[in-house]
Amino acid sequence: MTIDHVRSILQDIVGTTHVFPNPEGPRLVVRPGSTEEVSRCLAALNQHAVPVVALGGLTGLVGGTDLFGAVVGLSTERLNKIHSLDPLRKLLVVDAGVKLEEVHRFVSERGFRYGVDFGARGSCTIGGNIATNAGGNSVVRFGMTRANVAGLEAVLADGRILSDTGGLVKNNTGYDLKQLFIGSEGTLGIVTKAVLRLTRPSHDTASVLLALNSLDDALHVMTTLEHRCGPSLLSMEIMWNRYFKTVSEAIAKGGPPPLSNAFAFYILAQAEGVDEEATAQDILVRALDGIDGIQDSALAHSQAHQEAFWAIRDGSEFIETGHPSVLSFDVSMRPQDYSTYVEKVERRLSERLSNAVPYIFGHLADGNVHFMIGHDNTVPDASHIIETCVYETLSGYWPTSVSAEHGIGREKADHLWRSRSGEEIAVMNAIRGTLDPAGILNPHVQYRARPAGLAFQA
Ligand SMILES: Cc1cc2nc3c(=O)[nH]c(=O)nc-3n(C[C@H](O)[C@H](O)[C@H](O)COP(=O)(O)OP(=O)(O)OC[C@H]3O[C@@H](n4cnc5c(N)ncnc54)[C@H](O)[C@@H]3O)c2cc1C
Repeated sequence: MTIDHVRSILQDIVGTTHVFPNPEGPRLVVRPGSTEEVSRCLAALNQHAVPVVALGGLTGLVGGTDLFGAVVGLSTERLNKIHSLDPLRKLLVVDAGVKLEEVHRFVSERGFRYGVDFGARGSCTIGGNIATNAGGNSVVRFGMTRANVAGLEAVLADGRILSDTGGLVKNNTGYDLKQLFIGSEGTLGIVTKAVLRLTRPSHDTASVLLALNSLDDALHVMTTLEHRCGPSLLSMEIMWNRYFKTVSEAIAKGGPPPLSNAFAFYILAQAEGVDEEATAQDILVRALDGIDGIQDSALAHSQAHQEAFWAIRDGSEFIETGHPSVLSFDVSMRPQDYSTYVEKVERRLSERLSNAVPYIFGHLADGNVHFMIGHDNTVPDASHIIETCVYETLSGYWPTSVSAEHGIGREKADHLWRSRSGEEIAVMNAIRGTLDPAGILNPHVQYRARPAGLAFQA
């Protein structure tokens, strides 16, 4: 089958203007305008065994949309309608291509909120969030995307439409099939619609930036704030010194950062208020009272002031631009293991690649550390050395994950076995083979078993 033939089949389904050549990634991009068009496109591609990659907002961080040399990218750009809001059940029905930020805007104008939020909100789509089971800044309160999806519609590889959009709280009639698609990175079907769970917005919010000397102190602050703030706690993020210093100085542009950069660790916590009697600021100030180990603090309750604090936490692009090459990692472990794990990675890095510069930050309460490791490209196998330092050190701990939030994509496939047993990987591939026997959906996202000779870490 030639590329012209594929183009003409797709054009017959979606119209000539919605199929176009693509200089980067898949050779053709098709933009269906409805679930039925997605279904017809997939049925046709499946019939001819043409591989296809789902394209959302392209903000994923593990190469899940880089299907180089492949044939078709199916973009959800035109699946962009917000269908309905059920205020009684607090449910929102949206198309998969709707941007996360648009969901926030739409529901907040109507007196609701959606709990999933993170830095890529302006570009990423609900379908992409579902496909990657995105986490973000308020997992401590709302959970990952999985906890915020009450239903979905997906098109299988052969074009069948699987729909579970009722959004019932209780429905124990066999398998909860929607869960299969959440976190499946486009390998089991293309998500076309979602039913999102909403909550009522907070009365107000406040954020506090805390400086600390040790990780033990950070964990003590974390457990105390969790206990004292209860459900008011929205976020609990951590930044190691080099990350805080680099990003806060870049943002301050010569002015003073909100706290001195002389401390080893910084926590950014956010809480919400209940009413005038218990505002977010009251709750945070009361919760912080008398906690040992806090060296310095800055409280923000105005929106602008809070945004300035969060710009530091979300400012990882300042690290990206600071080195010729930067490798990013997203590992997960028990918070009590951070301290020795990070020390070991830093020591191994300094022994094996002296010009590597690690920046560390993450979601403290979720046991999720982001490493960004910059280097100057002068050592040919620098990437391999860095990966070895991060992942082989991880293998000394349990439980751990090589991808806490971002998925496997292309980039983590060689390391999946470090977090999943051979049996788990076999079952994942069996489910995939059942739903997509011709293997057309995102074939570059591979669930590879442990290479011979390497031990499973657990
Ligand atoms: C600045 C920044 C901050 C981020 N912060 C976080 C964070 O805090 N927490 C977090 O979890 N992640 C974070 N991410 C990564 C996160 O995975 C993505 O931003 C987001 O969830 C992906 O959505 P997307 O629409 O851009 O998907 P894409 O990048 O387009 O796609 C991602 C994967 O999903 C598949 N896919 C896309 N749409 C569909 C669909 N409709 N059906 C089936 N498969 C589909 C793709 O094929 C691909 O494999 C961040 C990214 C950036 C750039």
